[in-house]
Amino acid sequence: MADCLFCRIAAGDIPADIVHADERMIAFRDINPQAPMHVLVVPRRHIATLDDLSPDDDQLVGEMMRRAAALARENGYADRGYRTVFNCNADAGQTVFHIHLHVIGGRSLTWPPG
Ligand code: 5GP
Ligand code: ZN
Repeated sequence: MADCLFCRIAAGDIPADIVHADERMIAFRDINPQAPMHVLVVPRRHIATLDDLSPDDDQLVGEMMRRAAALARENGYADRGYRTVFNCNADAGQTVFHIHLHVIGGRSLTWPPG
């Protein structure tokens, strides 16, 4: 989608600090990090929210989760712990309507979230 920020980052039209790229997804550092590691795992295909997923996307979402785990491990946070988050719609604070998996690590995280 031409007017979607994450489609434009995936296309290379807007720069980002990219830490992984393959045919189906990219991962880049969040511009406003909430922890020492704050990476967004983003499918190349535009999917607005979790509510727009179909059974055809099961493989994609599984790969996104495994990529998040791999990135946490590469950064040295696998054993001490990290958090993965999909925000969906207003009450969760979703601001970019192209699904993205937050991978947050490097500090002790509180629960419940704010
Ligand atoms: P959401 O609130 O939708 O779950 O998360 C959107 C995230 O995208 C936020 O954490 C925000 O800091 C990040 N973000 C917004 N604009 C940009 C950008 O232009 N570049 C990068 N790297 N991250 C962005
Ligand atoms: Zn998009």
